Amino acid sequence: QPLFDVYAVRRDFPILSQQVNGKPLVYLDNGASSQRPEAVLQAMDSYYREMHSNVHRGAHTLADRATTAFEGARKKVQQFLNAPSAREIIWTRGTTEAINLVANGLAPLLKPGDEILLSQMEHHANIVPWQMLAERTGAKVLPIDVTPEGELDMDSFHSLLGERTRVLAITHVSNALGTVNPVADMVAKAKTQGVITLVDGAQAVGHFQPDVQALDCDFYVFSAHKLFGPTGIGVLYGRAALLEAMPPWQGGGEMIERVSFAGTTYNTLPYKFEAGTPAIAEAVGLGAAIDYLATLDRDAMEAAESGLLQRANELVSSVPGMTIIGTSPNKVPLISFKIDGLHPSDIGTLLDQQGIAIRAGHHCAMPLMEYYGLPGGTARASFAFYNTLEEVEQLFAALQKIQRLFA
Ligand code: PMP
Repeated sequence: QPLFDVYAVRRDFPILSQQVNGKPLVYLDNGASSQRPEAVLQAMDSYYREMHSNVHRGAHTLADRATTAFEGARKKVQQFLNAPSAREIIWTRGTTEAINLVANGLAPLLKPGDEILLSQMEHHANIVPWQMLAERTGAKVLPIDVTPEGELDMDSFHSLLGERTRVLAITHVSNALGTVNPVADMVAKAKTQGVITLVDGAQAVGHFQPDVQALDCDFYVFSAHKLFGPTGIGVLYGRAALLEAMPPWQGGGEMIERVSFAGTTYNTLPYKFEAGTPAIAEAVGLGAAIDYLATLDRDAMEAAESGLLQRANELVSSVPGMTIIGTSPNKVPLISFKIDGLHPSDIGTLLDQQGIAIRAGHHCAMPLMEYYGLPGGTARASFAFYNTLEEVEQLFAALQKIQRLFA
């Protein structure tokens, strides 16, 4: 028996066994959002059937059950990230809201002339909040260059990192290229200058388990829907001392200690950043996704994913005029590509007719597409551990056909 039985694992994901446009679904858009195992669907369903109530406030049994499930999920996230304390795990709506929360919270610490280092390969979610912060504070946003292979240019990083740098915010894995960035080294270097560091883990968590203590970053953010969990919830890990120093993000119930018209005091971590009724069922669903992943053999799963990428790379030469954008050896199983004579969005539409789901366009990374001179973006096939080698082969067979008929 193989260590990682992909066919058995696929049976845990009901959505995968359906026909789309008359063909078996081949789901290769995991970078945009992955799918949920039965365990997550069931956990959310039984939460609503058996224990739903508002959390923290209630003086009754259902409220206790809901609170236990909700705070239990926070604990699972803490363990998943190897964060020192559950107080450092803040629920957000997703990666985007988490980055906005941090950018907002750092405003009082920035002054005109301070510099925020990002990179040319960031998702718009890790660019625009910093630009808005820069506008508010007079700080400047500077992008680290990318190399033609799609890696971060370390010379550019070292020359930009300086006395004025206050923040380094970089993606762990590029959503548009699949590159895994050397974030631990970069964080270590930034720390020597007292820089505050944020790592965007949106594309990392679906492929490997980050360790925030090993990375030593101040903030780590991700979205549950890319970790086989629900939409509408995400995570901000933040170092307690920084979270304590930051002002609250939104005001309302739950985030306060005491309210009066003479003045209001705020709740302790993590509640200070969680105004209003949270996404309770979604937290429970994310907890179930983490539990589900823990039942799989991580090493075998990662090896299977490498196998998918390797097979895809081998098959590129079988499609005339096909070029991969982003050829770093350090990649998650994701290929961003163009085919001469075909627009990426047409590739997407033609593949969809054959039941194959990919994404086409700028992937919310316009500065990166500009760097590569690809205003129409790329076509992107992003794999998850439940994809098979046969599906990789089906993708390439379909691309060969499309190229023959339409390029
Ligand atoms: N950063 C990266 C690297 C991403 O891939 C994404 C999602 N495509 C985001 C941020 C934003 O995530 P969300 O839309 O879930 O907030």
